Amino acid sequence: MTLSLKDYSSIVGEKLVDEIYEEAAPLEGKHVEHINSTFYGGGVAEILSSLTLLMNDVGIKTGWRLLKGHQDFFNVTKKFHNSLQGEDIILSEDKKKIYIECNEINSIIMHIHPLDAIIIHDPQPLPLINFYKKTQPWIWRCHIDLSSPNKILWNYLKQFIEKYDAVIVSMDQYKQKDLNKPYHIIPPSIDPLTAKNKFIPDSVVKRYLSKFGVDLDKPVISQVSRFDKWKDPLGVVKAFDIIKKQVDCKLVLLGSMASDDPEGEIIYNRLMEKVKGNNDIIVINYADDFLVNCLQRASDVVIQKSLKEGFGLTVTEALWKGTPVVAGNVGGIPLQVIDGKNGYLVNNIRECADRTIKLLKDPRLREELGTAGMGHVKKNFLITRHLMDYIHLLKGMMK
Ligand code: UDP
Repeated sequence: MTLSLKDYSSIVGEKLVDEIYEEAAPLEGKHVEHINSTFYGGGVAEILSSLTLLMNDVGIKTGWRLLKGHQDFFNVTKKFHNSLQGEDIILSEDKKKIYIECNEINSIIMHIHPLDAIIIHDPQPLPLINFYKKTQPWIWRCHIDLSSPNKILWNYLKQFIEKYDAVIVSMDQYKQKDLNKPYHIIPPSIDPLTAKNKFIPDSVVKRYLSKFGVDLDKPVISQVSRFDKWKDPLGVVKAFDIIKKQVDCKLVLLGSMASDDPEGEIIYNRLMEKVKGNNDIIVINYADDFLVNCLQRASDVVIQKSLKEGFGLTVTEALWKGTPVVAGNVGGIPLQVIDGKNGYLVNNIRECADRTIKLLKDPRLREELGTAGMGHVKKNFLITRHLMDYIHLLKGMMK
């Protein structure tokens, strides 16, 4: 983690860094607030940790606030999340009441006036807009895979979204035809200077992993993800059973719980039940950025067998480390994994296993795809590009 954009010069070049400062100059002193519902766990918190610091560094007074909620609230919003990714939902009056009341309570204690722009992330804080007199642009940033949202829920949420001035999504396919709002496409990004993504020498990687029971005595494949059904950890285990028949290797599943995700524990327990007694599968439930970094570096292949995926920062992170990725052909993943060039896109367990075996058997292919992955991320998915996108957006909205 760094506080200054200048530190990125060694990676993206001084010219781009100077351009960003220059572009941001007209926003000097403007006050912007990001609001989401968790400080750690998951991609949104990951992005905001770096983005908010860098926005401050370029002169935009940028705050980050959390919507506080009880278990009931997060149970409802997790259902909303699942339903926006296509699942059925019983949209009861009770659920709506819990959702709205929590937002109303937060609006009383937030005191977010006066600001120059407000950026709301995901559905949890979406109804906040109902409880303020709007004196500045409000932007809704949705990180979820909106390729086929449940219509009942979408129609309900639309009443709030319609009050916003603009909507940001990660890719064109997430635009909804029935929402007549200015859309901005801003793909997510990673920060190459954090503990999660900075360079680590092999000897340190090896030592650190061994503390968690991961020895590099066999090829390693891994998936790093919240324990979430959309990440399909059980599907990864099934693919591993097939892979093991051809290549002696081990599987590491690293995950942790996000405070706004009540389903994590259920999925974790189900997974533990499934892998019991299998010494080649290591499940680690621990939040540790350096560990994520080491694992993604040490893996011969990183898997991200998602069934739905807003974008998939874990894919970006692995590609950045030069590790080829075998990932579900869903959501934002095809923006990152170019099939056959820096990894493979797969549609089922069998394909996942076959592609992984192919990579495990061919070190040169892994090297070639890994190098291509690093280049793709450098060009498209680093925090510097993300910052520039926000600067352009805010300048456009504050005219
Ligand atoms: N993550 C982590 N530890 C874990 C699991 C996930 O630090 O045990 C991080 C992961 O490295 C990535 C983010 O959480 O930065 C997940 O973002 P992604 O977009 O892949 O998925 P999301 O969780 O937002 O659906």
